[in-house]
Amino acid sequence: MRSVRRAGLALTAATALILAACSAGEPGQSGGSASAGGSETGSGGAGGDGITIGIKYDQPGLGLKEGNDFTGFDVDVAKYVAGKLGYSEDKIKFVESVSSQRETLLENGSVDMIFATYSITDARKERVSFAGPYFVAGQDLLVAADNTDITGPDSLNGKVLCSVEGSTSAERIRDEHSQQTELYPAQTYSECVELLSAGTVDAVTTDDVILAGYAAQSQYEGKFKLVGKPFSEENYGVGLPKGSDKCEDVNTAITTMIDDGTWEELIKKNVGESFTPNPSQNPPKVQACA
Ligand code: GLU
Repeated sequence: MRSVRRAGLALTAATALILAACSAGEPGQSGGSASAGGSETGSGGAGGDGITIGIKYDQPGLGLKEGNDFTGFDVDVAKYVAGKLGYSEDKIKFVESVSSQRETLLENGSVDMIFATYSITDARKERVSFAGPYFVAGQDLLVAADNTDITGPDSLNGKVLCSVEGSTSAERIRDEHSQQTELYPAQTYSECVELLSAGTVDAVTTDDVILAGYAAQSQYEGKFKLVGKPFSEENYGVGLPKGSDKCEDVNTAITTMIDDGTWEELIKKNVGESFTPNPSQNPPKVQACA
């Protein structure tokens, strides 16, 4: 059983590398053409009178691309904030920003802003600026519904754990928890969840609100459960190029969104069925732009 799983893991690891190469190209490609437009007009990623916003494409309830439709809490917050900055929806170009690419996309001008379950951290602040937070989540674990031995981040020794490169989730497990855990580094969480469904990995770790979105998908009904003991505080910020002069305006828009009831409405609409945000942390207060 173990060797079968290992073989599966090796195979999927190879696939992951290929996928990584492809998906790493994707944001860069769309960004490349976007920033070419930007340099012509002298504006940010979108060029002209539009705005280019990085989101996730594969996180149900948060940032999801289905055909030409973009849905989720991050997407709706992005539309609200962009609206307050003077960009109607038809002026927004959404591009994918996988976790490991976010700082780079902001630094090279491929995107103007990022709304992508993007935690504000001091390390990231060295390279980018953040407005917000507009949501607070916590890191958790997703396991098979019948699993009984994974009860938290310190019960993962000897287990295969999937998380995403460039995320705080992968880093925290590496730095602070089970040293004897085999960490499978994926490019996206949907890839991790597929591996969990196939039994190739024992658990997936990232923010609770993200994991709840996958668990609620009809194809996974009854298959998974959240361990339900969050072990971090993830403050979702709006990623901006370092020193951006938009930060104050974005913060004002977020505060208005919370005060006028839109925040509550968007939470209900997008994650209400699968997840209850921690009420002692949400809705959050925005931090001063640094
Ligand atoms: N919020 C965490 C982070 O920013 C994990 C989720 C993600 O990778 O988007 O790294």
